Amino acid sequence: MIAVLVVRDGVLPLGADETVAEAGGEALLAGSGVKDAAGELAALRTGLLAENGTFAPGRWAAQLAQVLADRDQIVLPASPDGRDLAPRLAAELGRPLFPGALRVNETEVELSRWDSRVSVTLPVSGPFVATLLPGVRGVSSAGKCELRAITLPEAEGNDVEVVEVLEAGPGTLDLAEAPKIFAAGAGLGHGALDGPSAVELLGRVASALGASLGATRVVTDAGWTGYERQIGTTGVVANPELYVAFGISGASQHIGGLGHPAHVVSVNTDPFCPMTAMAELGIVADAQSVLAELARLLEVQ
Ligand SMILES: Cc1cc2nc3c(=O)[nH]c(=O)nc-3n(C[C@H](O)[C@H](O)[C@H](O)COP(=O)(O)OP(=O)(O)OC[C@H]3O[C@@H](n4cnc5c(N)ncnc54)[C@H](O)[C@@H]3O)c2cc1C
Repeated sequence: MIAVLVVRDGVLPLGADETVAEAGGEALLAGSGVKDAAGELAALRTGLLAENGTFAPGRWAAQLAQVLADRDQIVLPASPDGRDLAPRLAAELGRPLFPGALRVNETEVELSRWDSRVSVTLPVSGPFVATLLPGVRGVSSAGKCELRAITLPEAEGNDVEVVEVLEAGPGTLDLAEAPKIFAAGAGLGHGALDGPSAVELLGRVASALGASLGATRVVTDAGWTGYERQIGTTGVVANPELYVAFGISGASQHIGGLGHPAHVVSVNTDPFCPMTAMAELGIVADAQSVLAELARLLEVQ
């Protein structure tokens, strides 16, 4: 089994290390700045390094298919670039694609389905391409690793022309990649503001601090914000460095999608709720009052 990672300017995709670990430590890194990126991988044992310029999924799939034809199991992270490349690579190689896997090996793949409500285990008997969901597997260090530079063969491919790559702002960033998250729970709906207005204000305050907006299922079910903002077992699996919870009780289905934040702050009127119990800093206060004060200090309207 081999992992394939798309590297942009030395930056690894989300879930890179876990994918390499799942592939037993062997990976092909393609893109720009691949050697620097390889140095960041704890699970890497054997790395093939292909400096291959700007990402073009159609052409790259045709190039990689020539190099990877004898590899029976190919796994990519289910990052945006991985999700672009994997189906094209599977089509080039004429094999099935298993997207959104939790686990893959030579004989079976476990796939997450129905917004992570069920996992399906399928037997496999031939070559395949799969994408692995980030934030599920975890990683352990491989120790020593060997690196070898390779050149991918030339190939033609159908690609759209990339005019410009825009950095995602905190408001548009995929929650799974957000380093800082301010999240709204049902408790934020109590006070002068109605639920949607309070969540909207939280989003503006979060943006002013370079953080992204998250929410619990109670909040998304109530329609105060979109489902793409829901963190948890039936939402997005995030893994921020900082998580600030406003009026969130800390139910297991919510915490299950939180990863391992280095810093957790909980604003809650209940000092004993699970969210406050797991927080580094527990602010026992009314969530809307704390939010209004933050907005005032940051001059957020
Ligand atoms: C199959 C299944 C899947 C689920 N998947 C998810 C999921 O993916 N994500 C998810 O989040 N949930 C999920 N849930 C729901 C989950 O069980 C909880 O119900 C939900 O996370 C609770 O959200 P909450 O913390 O916003 O609300 P509550 O549990 O109602 O908590 C509200 C909190 O606000 C506090 N509070 C009240 N007033 C104030 C105030 N004025 N100021 C400050 N704090 C205040 C309260 O003390 C309380 O701690 C799932 C449930 C099931 C059954």
